[in-house]
Amino acid sequence: MTDTAVAPETHAFEADVSKLLHMMVHSVYSDKDVFLRELISNAADACEKLRYEAISHPEILSEDSAPRITITLDPDNRRLTLEDNGIGMTAADMGETLGTIARSGTKAFMDRIAADKGGEGSQLIGQFGVGFYSAFMVADRVEVISRRAGSDEAARWSSDGQGTYTIEPVAPEEAPQRGTRVVLHLLEDAKSYAEQFTVERIVKAQSGHVPVPIFLLEKPDAEAKEITDGAALWTKSRSDISEEDYADFYRSVAGQFDQPALTIHYRAEGRTEYSVLTFIPESKPFDLFDPDRKGRIKLYVRRVFITDEAEILPRYLRFVRGLVDSADLPLNMSREMIQDSPILSAIQKGVTGRVLSELEKLSNNDAEAYGKVWDNFGAVLKEGLYEDFERREALLNLARFKTTSSMENWRSLKDYVADIKENQTAIYYAVGNDLARLATSPQIEGFRARGIEVLLLPDQVDSFWTTIGVDYEGKPFKSVTQGAADLSLIPPADTGDAPKAEGGETIDALVAFAKQTLEDVVSDVRISDRLTTSAVCLVAPESGMDRQLEKLLASAGQLPAAAKPVLEINAGHGLIAKLANAADGSDDMKADIAHLLLDEARIADGEPPADPRAFAERLERLMTRALG
Ligand code: ADP
Ligand code: MG
Repeated sequence: MTDTAVAPETHAFEADVSKLLHMMVHSVYSDKDVFLRELISNAADACEKLRYEAISHPEILSEDSAPRITITLDPDNRRLTLEDNGIGMTAADMGETLGTIARSGTKAFMDRIAADKGGEGSQLIGQFGVGFYSAFMVADRVEVISRRAGSDEAARWSSDGQGTYTIEPVAPEEAPQRGTRVVLHLLEDAKSYAEQFTVERIVKAQSGHVPVPIFLLEKPDAEAKEITDGAALWTKSRSDISEEDYADFYRSVAGQFDQPALTIHYRAEGRTEYSVLTFIPESKPFDLFDPDRKGRIKLYVRRVFITDEAEILPRYLRFVRGLVDSADLPLNMSREMIQDSPILSAIQKGVTGRVLSELEKLSNNDAEAYGKVWDNFGAVLKEGLYEDFERREALLNLARFKTTSSMENWRSLKDYVADIKENQTAIYYAVGNDLARLATSPQIEGFRARGIEVLLLPDQVDSFWTTIGVDYEGKPFKSVTQGAADLSLIPPADTGDAPKAEGGETIDALVAFAKQTLEDVVSDVRISDRLTTSAVCLVAPESGMDRQLEKLLASAGQLPAAAKPVLEINAGHGLIAKLANAADGSDDMKADIAHLLLDEARIADGEPPADPRAFAERLERLMTRALG
């Protein structure tokens, strides 16, 4: 010890980190290998950060400019050391990043674990990048010795993963020239991670396409052997890349651990030149419905990673993962200035168009594969119908629907229009939040009876795009729960089921009576064209907002008061006919029934009765009468 030595400072981990560490140490994960992927990915990130910083501060590279990750094994001492010559960390950086959970991915992972009682953890670990702390799955002590690029000072972080860690300065000669060394003191049952064969196999499989070369020393004094070359996969030609290479690369660039459902790799030439390597995942990324709706496409400039915040694709394509490498953007442009660059706009436009056309190609060539993509991402793609006027037509062609004629298989609008009924002038749809309930809602009975196909739209976004005047091949979209359904020009498939006004005058009198009784709560009462088996249903007035959208906005507190709906009654229904003809019934009883019918319609729409107490009283009065 020299007299400049400073005693190590001990710190406690943030509560969430302790929880995470406890899981790492005590849970038995089937796949501990992932710790290597995590440490390599951190080392590669550090190298990319250095490359980026060196654009404006070339002096921090000194003479050691080639990025590199070196793994040194020491089987005799059960030790694995992973070193990079990247950006490095100061003592303060270490305190901030290796004692807390800053990253959204790790946070999301923790939230899922907290919500998880059934022990899905071992699968989760495969879906989330769990980061640095995964080292404690295989080590009972982890040391991180680091020197920030451009600094003379170095520090050591050390922990046994049991609640505290220490940070202390170390002599420069004990630290890397620049960058970070992570030393794992391996657990007895993890000693194979100090063996060359095991480590080489894992690194090649998990991290074979990390854009920094990886070297391996089988013993501390052995010769370094390059096990992956760090060549940028996207610069190679497609014929030199296997499916497996793509899948490996996809997993490392996307932080996903499934397979790509679609790989898009090309080079754009002409006024702006860039390479694109993007993927559509096979399963939903966990952050798909995060409120910030951020994309994750990485922007490189001539192989230097610049940012993953350039929003290269519109938000409705946020599930696409991968990167774009521009040949034209200046390297020394700030990230903020890049956002405003016309070169970036050209790239955004080009890549967006290409992703959509590749999706269309897939839909034409492999409907089943495309159907799976739509299963996962249809609800997100439909946001584009609302947001991207320019590409609406392309998106309408990509859109798929479950309908009253096809609950199993996806239907396109082209299919719909091809099967449209004679005299049918609109594309009918029903919006709700549950497909099964939509399929049985009273409002579509009349459409069914006439064999008119109705699109069943169960996603939140459907309430929005349908209301902005979208049409397809000249046919407007029309809600089955809004306005009058004039179906008189389309004959019912089976006349036996058809609704028909019965009772003439008496039914008109009933309508007038109901209208008067319910005038405070409905805007109109009328005979329905759209009902066959149900007695009543509610629809929105012609000029009003679709009822589903109204409910959505009301529940978000964005609507002061909902508009009064229209109550439609089925003149062909037995109860209605009886009611119309019930000359002896008192007006009080008829009023009760009118209110009950309205509540029945509300319940069929999944809403509670307007006034539950009054509803109960009316029902009781009626039941008493029925028994008495
Ligand atoms: P993530 O990599 O997603 O940010 P990690 O838990 O893997 O999360 O790492 C936490 C942080 O620790 C990193 O963001 C980085 O700031 C720092 N870090 C980890 N390893 C290194 C390294 N080799 N070089 C520099 N910084 C590192
Ligand atoms: Mg990491």
